[in-house]
Amino acid sequence: MKAFISVDMEGISGLVRWADVVTNGLDFARNRRFMTNDANAAIAGAFDGGATEVVVEENHGIEELCDLLLDEIDPRCRVVRGAGRPTATTMAALDASVGVVLFVGHHARAGSRPGIMAHTVSYQQFKAVRVNGRDCGEAEIFTIRAGELGVPAGMISGDQVVIGQLRERAPWVEGVEVKRALSNVAGDVIPPAQTAAMIRVASRRAVERARAGDLFVYRDEPSPYRIEVELRHDPGQELLDNLSKLSEFQVNGRTVCTETGDMDLGFRRIAYLGYANQPGVLRY
Ligand SMILES: [Zn+2]
Repeated sequence: MKAFISVDMEGISGLVRWADVVTNGLDFARNRRFMTNDANAAIAGAFDGGATEVVVEENHGIEELCDLLLDEIDPRCRVVRGAGRPTATTMAALDASVGVVLFVGHHARAGSRPGIMAHTVSYQQFKAVRVNGRDCGEAEIFTIRAGELGVPAGMISGDQVVIGQLRERAPWVEGVEVKRALSNVAGDVIPPAQTAAMIRVASRRAVERARAGDLFVYRDEPSPYRIEVELRHDPGQELLDNLSKLSEFQVNGRTVCTETGDMDLGFRRIAYLGYANQPGVLRY
């Protein structure tokens, strides 16, 4: 069985503030090691549970989605990294050959309080992302997409908020609360040396349960999906110019709507709105 691990950074053990996850942050180099350690724990657990193949996909938007330390990553896995992947960015390796999806270091959706570094896709630009009228975070988008492919979600590590949000849709997922969110930038954290063992156990359990057919495929979101992205600021002229040439987007004040039949395209359109404010950028 192949395990797919999506690794983000805001939900990594020990990290609580934006300076922890940006390139010029004081401890960024060290924090990349924490990220790699959490990923390694999930990889080891997946193999413990009987995975025969593990593919890790980098999902943190800094440094063009290249944050893991490749000389420290478990050599048994494969890593998909770098920006501009041909399908939905951060889900390029998620296909029907995957047996279970594991989330490492994920964070709560935009607007969550508390919720460590809560956002959806773009903190700077998006106030909310809704699918069929309901707020939706990144791990939920992945879970919807995995469901389209017949793949179950099995585990998530992060704070208590993101675990709770994913469990609203997928109550069967193993949750590893590596820190308790106290606000958007404060938390009660378990030292990374201890969370590694917790992540490893949960990852093992998720793969064992997937192999036993004890996880469910999420199919409760009706498609086509009506996706709304609520921007933080009024859209600028460049964004309006670009969107006026793409009839699949409708602008209503600060809210941009689109409708898609699948979440691969849906995620690409959401992500596009994060960079569509550059003149003449018309591809997603
Ligand atoms: Zn991130």
